[in-house]
Amino acid sequence: MSGDVIHKAVPTAGLLLPNLTDYDAECAGFSWEHARSWLDGLPNGRLNIAHEAVDRWGHGVSGHIEALRLVHADETTTSYSYHQLSELTSRFANVLDSLGVGKDAVVAGLLGRRLEGYVSLLGTLKSGRVFTPLFAAYGPEPVRQRLEIAGAEVLVTTRAAYDRKVADLRHEMPHLRHVLLVDDDSSQPAGNVLSWHVLLDAASPAYITRATARDDPALLHFTSGTTGTPKGALHVHEAVVAHYATGRFALDLHPGDIYWCTADPGWVTGTSYGAIAPLSHGVTVIVDEEEFDPQRWWRILERQHVNVWYTAPTALRMLMRGADAETPRHLPNLRFAASVGEPLNPEIVTWGQRVLGQPVHDNWWQTETGGIMIANYAACDVRPGSMGRPLPGIDAAVVAQDPDGAPIIADGGPVLVFEPDRSGVLALRRGWPSMFRGYLHEEERYRACFSGNWYLTGDIVRRDADGWYWFVGRGDDVIKTAGHLVGPFEVESALMEHPAVGEAGVVGRPDAMAGEIVRAFVVLKPPYEPTAELQRELIGFARKRLGAAVAPRELEFADALPHTESGKIVRRALKDLP
Ligand code: ATP
Ligand code: MG
Repeated sequence: MSGDVIHKAVPTAGLLLPNLTDYDAECAGFSWEHARSWLDGLPNGRLNIAHEAVDRWGHGVSGHIEALRLVHADETTTSYSYHQLSELTSRFANVLDSLGVGKDAVVAGLLGRRLEGYVSLLGTLKSGRVFTPLFAAYGPEPVRQRLEIAGAEVLVTTRAAYDRKVADLRHEMPHLRHVLLVDDDSSQPAGNVLSWHVLLDAASPAYITRATARDDPALLHFTSGTTGTPKGALHVHEAVVAHYATGRFALDLHPGDIYWCTADPGWVTGTSYGAIAPLSHGVTVIVDEEEFDPQRWWRILERQHVNVWYTAPTALRMLMRGADAETPRHLPNLRFAASVGEPLNPEIVTWGQRVLGQPVHDNWWQTETGGIMIANYAACDVRPGSMGRPLPGIDAAVVAQDPDGAPIIADGGPVLVFEPDRSGVLALRRGWPSMFRGYLHEEERYRACFSGNWYLTGDIVRRDADGWYWFVGRGDDVIKTAGHLVGPFEVESALMEHPAVGEAGVVGRPDAMAGEIVRAFVVLKPPYEPTAELQRELIGFARKRLGAAVAPRELEFADALPHTESGKIVRRALKDLP
C-alpha cells in the first residue's frame, strides 16, 4: 500500500499555479503571524470571521462576485452576490440587537442547506455573538440536549422542525428566548415564535461589525458523537486565519473558483469549509438543497462547472457502487477533489484517477482542531492510503503507547516516537489559531486532551520515513489480536480492493485465546450475491494481501453498515453484534 505513488506534474507556467508547489520551502518559511497578514483585519489588531468572509468582498467591485449559488430540487439555481450577503448578514445582526439578545449569547441554527442558515451564521458572527450549527435531521432529544449544553438564547429553524422537535420541550429551555422561523412569513406567527423574513425586511442593511478580539468565542461545534456523547467544542474568531490558510494550501482555492463542499452546514466541515474558508477567499460556493443522489451529484459537478470539490469517503463509496461507476466522466472544470471525515481507502483514490481524471486528495482533521491539519496537496505527489503531510504551521508527532494503548507521558510531556512506521497516538503542538478553546462545561475533559505542549488527538497513526502520515484507526477501534495491533482501516482497505466489495467495516471480537479476533462485515456491490464461496474467497484475498495474522478470521455479509448521522461507519455498533 505504501509503495504506490501518484506523481503530480506541477505546471511551470500559466495563470493558475497550484498554491503549494514547494512543500518544504513553504513549511520552512511559514508563520501564523505572517498568515494573519493574508486577511483584511479590523483596526487595532481586531479580527471578525464575518468581516473576512463577507464584508471584505461585499463592497466596491468585488461586491458583484457570486458568493452563494443555491441549487434547488429542480436544479434551477439562485445566486447571491457578496454585496447581497453583506446586506443580509447586517440585517440579521441588527435583528439580534433589536431583540435585545445578550451580547455574547449563543444563536443556534437547525436548518439544513438553505440561504437563511448561511445568513444566520455570518450575521451572528458579525454581531459578535456565538453561533452553533445543529444537524437538521436530529430528533427532539438530541436537539434539546445540544440547545441546553449551549444555553442557546435564539434558535433559527423551520416551522416543521420547530413543531416536531422543539415546541413540546420548550418549557424545559428557559434560556431559549427567541425562535425565528425562516419559512413562516406571517407578521405574527402562531405559537411564541417570530418570522425571520419579516424581521429581516424591517431591519437596516447597514451594520458596524463588532470588533471582536482574536480570542473571542465565535463558534460552538458539537462533535459527531461517533464514540459516545457529543462534546461542544468552542472556537474563536482567529480560527479564520487557519480557515484561510488551509483553504489556500489544502483545498487549492483561487479567485474565480466555483467550489462545492458536500458536508451539511450542521457539522463543522459544512461551516468551516462549506462557508468560512471559501468565502474568505472570495470564491463562489455551491449549496445543493437536496440530499445525496448519485446522478444529481454528477450533474452538479458537470453543469455547475465545479473547480474544487470537497466531499467524504462514504459519498465516494456510494458513487463507486452506482451505475456506470467506472465510466470516466467529462469534468474539464474539476481541478481538485478532496475528502475528509473518515479514512480514504486507496481504492477510492485511484478510482478518482480513473473516473474524475485526478486522484481524490485525503485530508485529516477533527472538530477540535477547527481546520485541516494533515493533507495531500494539489501539486504534491499522492500516496494512496496516506492522509498526507502536516500543513505549513502544523507540527505533528507520533506518541508512544503503553500496552493498553494509552499515550506514554514522562517528565510532563508525551514520549514521541521518531522511528518511521511505528504506530502511536497522533499529537499536534498547540498554538494553531483554530484550535478549540474548551469543551463547554467540561474543563476537566478539555485539560485531559493536552500533555505539555501537545494536543493528543486520540487517533492512531504512523509516519513513514518521508514524513507522510497513515491512519491506523481511532484509539478505541484498534484491534489487539494475538499480540498484534491491527488497524481496521488497513483491513477494510484491503477488502475494498476486491471487485465485489462496496464497503467494509472491521472490528475485534473478544476471544479467550487471542484477546480479540479480526471480524469483517462486508456490503457487496451489485450484482454480487452473498455465498459461502465468496466468503472464503474474500478471506483468502485478504490473507494474501495482509497475512494471516492481520486478515479477518471471520467475515459476514451485511445489507448495510451502521453510520453516524454525518455518514461515518460506527464500528462500536458492529462490535456489539453477536
Ligand atoms: P466523537 O469525537 O464525538 O466521537 P468524531 O470524532 O467522529 O466524533 P469529528 O470531529 O467529526 O467527530 O471527526 C473527527 C474524526 O474523524 C477524527 O478524529 C478521525 O478519527 C476521523 N477522521 C477525519 N478525517 C479523517 C481522515 N482523513 N482519515 C481518517 N480518519 C479521519
Ligand atoms: Mg472525536
